[in-house]
Amino acid sequence: MLLTIKVKLYPNNQQHKALLETMERFNEACDYISKIVFSNRVFGKIAIHRIAYYDVREKFDLSSQMVVRAIGKVAESYKVDKSCCHEFKKHGAIVYDQRILTFKTSDEISILTLEGRERITIKYGEYRPLDTDRVRGQADLIYHNNTFYLMVVVDVPDADPIDPNGVIGIDMGIVNIATTSDGEIFSGKKCTEVRQRYSNLKAKLQSVGTHSAKKHLKKISGKERRFKKDTNHCIAKAIVQIAKDTNRAIAIEKLKGIRTNSTVNKAVRTAIGKWAFDELGNFLKYKAALAGIPVFEIDPKNTSRECSVCGHIDKGNRKNQAEFHCQKCGHNENADINASKNISSRGICQLSHSLLSC
Ligand SMILES: [Zn+2]
Repeated sequence: MLLTIKVKLYPNNQQHKALLETMERFNEACDYISKIVFSNRVFGKIAIHRIAYYDVREKFDLSSQMVVRAIGKVAESYKVDKSCCHEFKKHGAIVYDQRILTFKTSDEISILTLEGRERITIKYGEYRPLDTDRVRGQADLIYHNNTFYLMVVVDVPDADPIDPNGVIGIDMGIVNIATTSDGEIFSGKKCTEVRQRYSNLKAKLQSVGTHSAKKHLKKISGKERRFKKDTNHCIAKAIVQIAKDTNRAIAIEKLKGIRTNSTVNKAVRTAIGKWAFDELGNFLKYKAALAGIPVFEIDPKNTSRECSVCGHIDKGNRKNQAEFHCQKCGHNENADINASKNISSRGICQLSHSLLSC
């Protein structure tokens, strides 16, 4: 499977300066190209190359491949919208390809800067050292909080599939982020606390409305998102470990992709805390794939209204958000655990189908 991994760079001071200057020069070149593109209404890569290449090389003293990448970045950007002249952020990403970036060893790259090629140490965070043969295509150099990262696409082989003996069902929600059919609950309590803290702070800043308040606002939104992401990573990791230890497949509800756009109102956006489900589902899928654990996506219809003991489906079974009480057989259970058991049964159904068809 293809994964995008984030690789941290450890440049020395002189290299840091060189990378930063390269990035700034690159984006200045993008702005310059953008003006030419917009005023001439020429949007194709080859056509832009024809009218801008020599001009840009001379003016910005960039290597030929850098100019090609800058033209590429501008052309990509106009694919989406041709109605206005695009401006590029001073520290926007540079796209590097194999001609200007090479992985020397598993912990060193050679990367082109305005000062020539630099050898820079890299590290992978939670990932195993990079198998450099598996790097695919281009990598984006990004700059965030005074640190450089490369976003690298690697082709990671799926592990040999396990032969599962059962299916663990996962119910995902807002209060309980994830509940397993074994009855284990990964609560969103910590997550909710943090969200609450940030939203209070946000409300304050929004009422201030100054430029610096806006800037601060943007920063905490990023922090909140990263916190959510870390939580989802952590939960996905724990669940995949349980599946691995007990030799079971995983079942989750098939998620309707919730998309956002700038026109959605605030109420909808709040509801889209739901996004987090998509993210958790995706983390589960890729961590499971790396461990060779099958993930079944089951039909979510009535998973929360069906009795996991007798199968009776009734709206009245769900007494409230937290409790399940079967109107027919009297079964009482935490509502999320009951739902995750239904998800597990449907997953077992799919598992036996998949065995029959092989
Ligand atoms: Zn029942």
